[in-house]
Amino acid sequence: MLKVGINGFGTIGKRVADAVAIQDDMKVTGIVKTRPDYMAFIASRKYKIYVPDSKSKKLFDEAGLKVEGYLDDLIEESEIIVDATPDDVGKENKPKYEAHKIKAIFQGGEDHELTNLSFNAYANYDEARGKDFVRVVSCNTTGLIRTLYPLTQLDNFKVRANLVRRATDPNDHKKGPINSIEPDLKIPSHHGPDVASVMKGLDIQTMAVKVPTTLMHVHFVNVTFKGEVSRERIIDEWQKYKRIVFVSGKDDVKSTGQLMEIARESGRGRSDLYEIVVWKEAVSVKGNELFYYQGIHQESDVVPENIDAIRSMFELKDKEGSIIKTDKSLKIGELAYGR
Ligand code: NAD
Repeated sequence: MLKVGINGFGTIGKRVADAVAIQDDMKVTGIVKTRPDYMAFIASRKYKIYVPDSKSKKLFDEAGLKVEGYLDDLIEESEIIVDATPDDVGKENKPKYEAHKIKAIFQGGEDHELTNLSFNAYANYDEARGKDFVRVVSCNTTGLIRTLYPLTQLDNFKVRANLVRRATDPNDHKKGPINSIEPDLKIPSHHGPDVASVMKGLDIQTMAVKVPTTLMHVHFVNVTFKGEVSRERIIDEWQKYKRIVFVSGKDDVKSTGQLMEIARESGRGRSDLYEIVVWKEAVSVKGNELFYYQGIHQESDVVPENIDAIRSMFELKDKEGSIIKTDKSLKIGELAYGR
């Protein structure tokens, strides 16, 4: 059982912890929390709690919540740390991991340059083999790579994609916008270069707007192939990948609200939807151009990628073996509805 410590127990960290806990080849050594809030009380029923510093320790002592030790102690107890702290905090933590000579995985809020290896299981599983530091790309980038990577089996192509981004996660009461649409004024948005950090050499440009919703992101994607392609061939290719699922507006699945309902009806913990959702009837081909919409559950699509990255870094399984194992454990491809 590989010993995995989780530093940062928010949207991503708590999900990765629970996913690690149900694997039969790894276990959670503990989690790091900064504050004794309700989530710390929930975590304490499942995991050993560690804190980053004495300031946090004092807060936990005052709240009467047991602390096992400091981050350094968790590192000593672990063989790898999954760092799921907020954007740019991972960068501050890296020297600590280096000093302890422990492997670490960072998340998409860190820059590619922190590890020089950005990861997606379908696209570059083998590149993480034996590596000490890997970054799992963000939710949007994971979503784009999931549906673009299979297309590399068909022909060369370029991509122009527009991203409609959720404002923040459902539990967050501080961020917005709550009554505006906020364009990302940097073009391309960071997502395009991020996809190209994994799918090297891909010509991809992205634009993004934030909208007042917390449920999911939606992408409009336009792919221009070198030659003509058929819609059937594209759908056949996507159907080979369990982390992509089709839905149809004809069955009244017309919004992200209904996608979340499908996840709830599927008995998914936290109504997580690890799969990238493509609206089947909207997949359109005009000559050598493909157009499609996809939905991304930002809170969960990177979770299987973290599990596969761990296996690749320790060479526990080959690409196919790890993906099959992860998918089975998380019941990926077993939604109550999908076409
Ligand atoms: P979050 O704010 O929900 O969780 C981060 C947690 O880390 C919080 O509980 C916070 O209190 C804690 N924390 C803060 N400083 C810490 C420290 N020094 N040591 C330990 N814990 C600390 O953030 P998140 O959404 O889970 O994001 C984590 C990472 O995952 C970021 O890089 C983010 O960009 C990336 N990511 C987020 C999403 C998403 O949609 N939420 C999707 C994919 C990737």
